[in-house]
Amino acid sequence: MAWREQVALVTGASRGIGRATALLLAGRGAAVAVNYATSEAEAASVVDAITAAGGRAIAVSADVADPAQVAAMVAQAAQALGPISILVNNAGFARQATLDTFDADALARMRRVNVDGPIAAIRAVMPAMRERRYGRIVNITSLAGIGTALPGNAFYAGTKAELAILTRRFAMELGPDGITVNAVAPGFIGTEMARASRSDSEWAETEQRMRQRTMVGRIGMPEDVANAVVFLAAPEAGFITAQQLVVDGGRMDYLGHS
Ligand code: NAP
Repeated sequence: MAWREQVALVTGASRGIGRATALLLAGRGAAVAVNYATSEAEAASVVDAITAAGGRAIAVSADVADPAQVAAMVAQAAQALGPISILVNNAGFARQATLDTFDADALARMRRVNVDGPIAAIRAVMPAMRERRYGRIVNITSLAGIGTALPGNAFYAGTKAELAILTRRFAMELGPDGITVNAVAPGFIGTEMARASRSDSEWAETEQRMRQRTMVGRIGMPEDVANAVVFLAAPEAGFITAQQLVVDGGRMDYLGHS
């Protein structure tokens, strides 16, 4: 299926990695549904940037943790742009916690967004993809889920490890229908999520530390991740499924054992 015939839904596309992915997919020629939960004005500015460049896009609001909102969003996007052929499950967040600061309710919310959100979105787009025997699904996981040694994100890492194994299992379920399911695992990317709750000096110190732990000597940009997503979402990527592509500049601080 050519790029121009495609419709992409990118969750959490109002800023950061989702925004860069929406812009790049639109640049290839796909129509894009730009999802957001609360950042309406930022989502509208992504839509404006796409339409100003001659593309097709709409903003669609939904909290991905709510399956009813997700189903309504998919129906709205399909009605406005056509059946969705590309789904990028990007919406997510990291809540820092340790065994000492564990808060069950807060961590349950993180799991609903990071894991249940992608499940709901895949279930919502799946019927139309099956009908047309074509689909590209890309889940944004994290290097954390593979086992970095950054303190405080154990439970976040757990949500992303779960999404990684679900990626492989769902690829197995949907492969016979012409649908690929892959994941992109970003390393440290300079977005609002990474900056959250850090002062300017803490950010400078963190960035410096991350550079030293990375083979290419820099932190990532949202576009670094978006390029990998678009590679896996391309029509030509139909023989690539159940994979997790790490985009981390060569991080060197994995957990060891023994
Ligand atoms: P970000 O800058 O904080 O952007 C997050 C996006 O997700 C926003 O558009 C936000 O929109 C949306 N969002 C959050 N909760 C949502 C919900 N419940 N329903 C719908 N949309 C929601 O984050 P980012 O750094 O680009 O991260 C994007 C993805 O990459 C996440 O899954 C994250 O875990 C993953 N990741 C990031 C890094 C990194 O270093 N930055 C590393 C590894 C993995 P609203 O403001 O409207 O809620």
